Amino acid sequence: CGIVGYVGDKKSLEVLVGGLRRLEYRGYDSAGVAVIDDHGELGVAKKSGKLVKLTDELAAHPIGDGRAGIGHTRWATHGGPTDVNAHPHLGDDGKLALIHNGIIENFSELKAELLAEGYSFTSETDTEVAAALLGREYRATGDLRTAFQSTVRRLDGAFTLLALHSDEPNLVVGARRNSPLVIGIGDGENFLGSDVAAFVQYTRTAMAVGQDQIVAITPESVTVTDFAGAPVEMETFQVEWDA
Ligand code: GLU
Repeated sequence: CGIVGYVGDKKSLEVLVGGLRRLEYRGYDSAGVAVIDDHGELGVAKKSGKLVKLTDELAAHPIGDGRAGIGHTRWATHGGPTDVNAHPHLGDDGKLALIHNGIIENFSELKAELLAEGYSFTSETDTEVAAALLGREYRATGDLRTAFQSTVRRLDGAFTLLALHSDEPNLVVGARRNSPLVIGIGDGENFLGSDVAAFVQYTRTAMAVGQDQIVAITPESVTVTDFAGAPVEMETFQVEWDA
């Protein structure tokens, strides 16, 4: 339901949890984060319930905090509001984490295809199928941007997706179809959000990702392409906001 992504020098967990808090007004039943720590390891925490459950979990079982991360609040559509069904969902190499707003309508066909190839699933969500698919494509390409292109071309329905992979520690990739995604442009840092509220306290310079587009952010760059990988021209706008 709420999505935030960050790359830059700030403590990413603080940016992510703060962003999720500002998206709370949308309602949710679970929350989770994934960050790549300074040693390049992926850390994940996720809990059903309010954000305080997640922050309690992070206090009890800290995860490393590095330069890139993604955060999610879930409004369950496929599978009940449990810890296991909460996002992020991981690829089978354990190095890739993905979050999702929306509904992947062809998830059962894709799940059958992946099950036949030997993949297994721990949650009941449509989202975990996208994570497995992205994991498979990553294994084939070793490149998150290219893996994203082939993954999103297979998905029907409505989705905002963000993912990161610990082999590419300064990168967050996102895509959208029938569901919103905005970019916040910083200085040596960049943001993604399902809504500008996710990052407006850090930057007012934004770009809206268009229908069927993919965005890749690093601390120093923002690139947007279509689902085939062709570059898209983007225009910035200034966010009007009374804080
Ligand atoms: N369909 C996904 C799920 O049930 C995402 C729901 C959402 O938009 O939060 O896990």
